[in-house]
Amino acid sequence: MDELLRDATNRAIRYLDSIRERRVSPGPGALEGLGGFARPLQDQPLAPATVLAELDALGSPATVASAGGRFFGFVIGGSLPAALAANILASAWDQNALLEVTSPVAAALEKVCRNWIGELFGLPPESEIGFVTSATMANFTGLAAARHALLLEQGWDVEARGLFGAPPITVVVGDEVHVSLLKALSMLGLGRDRVVRVDADAQGRIIPERIPAIHGPTVVCLQAGNVNTGAFDPLEEVAWRLHGAPAWVHVDGAFGLWAAASPSRRHLLRGVDRADSLATDAHKWLNVPYDSGLVIVRNARHLNAAMSSTAAYLAEDETRAPHLCVPEMSRRARAVEVWAALRSLGRAGLAELIDRTCDHARRFAEAFRRAGHEVLNEVVINQVLVSFGAPEITRRVIDRIQQDGTCWCGGTRWQGKTAMRISVSSWATTDADVGRSLEASLRIAADVQSHAGGRLAG
Ligand SMILES: *Cc1c(COP(=O)(O)O)cnc(C)c1O
Repeated sequence: MDELLRDATNRAIRYLDSIRERRVSPGPGALEGLGGFARPLQDQPLAPATVLAELDALGSPATVASAGGRFFGFVIGGSLPAALAANILASAWDQNALLEVTSPVAAALEKVCRNWIGELFGLPPESEIGFVTSATMANFTGLAAARHALLLEQGWDVEARGLFGAPPITVVVGDEVHVSLLKALSMLGLGRDRVVRVDADAQGRIIPERIPAIHGPTVVCLQAGNVNTGAFDPLEEVAWRLHGAPAWVHVDGAFGLWAAASPSRRHLLRGVDRADSLATDAHKWLNVPYDSGLVIVRNARHLNAAMSSTAAYLAEDETRAPHLCVPEMSRRARAVEVWAALRSLGRAGLAELIDRTCDHARRFAEAFRRAGHEVLNEVVINQVLVSFGAPEITRRVIDRIQQDGTCWCGGTRWQGKTAMRISVSSWATTDADVGRSLEASLRIAADVQSHAGGRLAG
């Protein structure tokens, strides 16, 4: 075991060293190499060291270098050193975070993180937290708590009786709602198409005046950090308008919620303390390893009731049963890396991570503007949308940037326009990474535009 784990660590170190200079997306040779995995399962056991060597030889070159500093696709963070190291130790622990008896350390760290995160986000102290796989599952879990609470008020036990014959719940979403929230609604039997969609403005923020009058049980789904523009719904204004209505407010803040940790950006989240439930990711902006999402529910009773199960062997005589905060039963101890990330950063380090990545995003936006390209969004946090002209030109620039390999950016459509999307979410991105990525992107954009000539320009 000793030698094997040292070998694994050495390979991990070599990998992380090499990806800083390697192309960000794997080249054709590396992808072809993956064919080496496609073999029938052999009869006899193989030495673990041989297995690891094969994985490294075929697998490492075919990874996307999102652990490096020049991956700007989707909203993907890296792994902070402390979080990665804690992850390695926790893998050796192999804890089941199901119950306090199956992992006292996981249960303890969940409670510590609950308190720290509640304070960072400025949430009511009674809020409860569940450590789930992703923001998709955090949306699912928060909305399950909403479904429970709203139907309980109607005298309907949804966990026991299901939705057949239940009083209807109105679901309000903004027009730029994230698809994962609609998926969560579909999995909960609330339906992704029966939602009331409310107009959003040019940045994707819900327009509070367009929210219809609330009658009967309603869940209002807001967003903190639009996946394209980074824009925030005006949480406080909406909460104020809903005051006294029988509405549950859910906030999807998959990455944007972390802006609350920065004193200079906290104002974007004014009113977040009025939410009944919140969803966020730790694997995006907090930079912990996959997979790690967080659901926060103000009233723990609703969360626990929605996540309850009835096996006698699960009964524990304690105040907080970890499995009553999440859909899963057995699961890994995700709080370990969340704790390690927060403990290593401290309040100031987390604020600095948020501000630094936002500054990088602003530098991208300014450089693209200076070069004559159109930036489509107000760069309020770490997201930048840039158009290089006609849709086919923008698409060609994105393709060429991805092939070039210096950095990686994805494409999107924003309110009818084709755009390249840059998301600066990794702790590992340096000024030099931004400089190299800008140099490559601007060179490619100029080249594509000059080859397109007058025909496609503008
Ligand atoms: C990324 C994202 C999600 C989904 O998060 P996963 O962790 O990929 O499930 C949901 N909402 C928003 C706003 C996001 O940016």
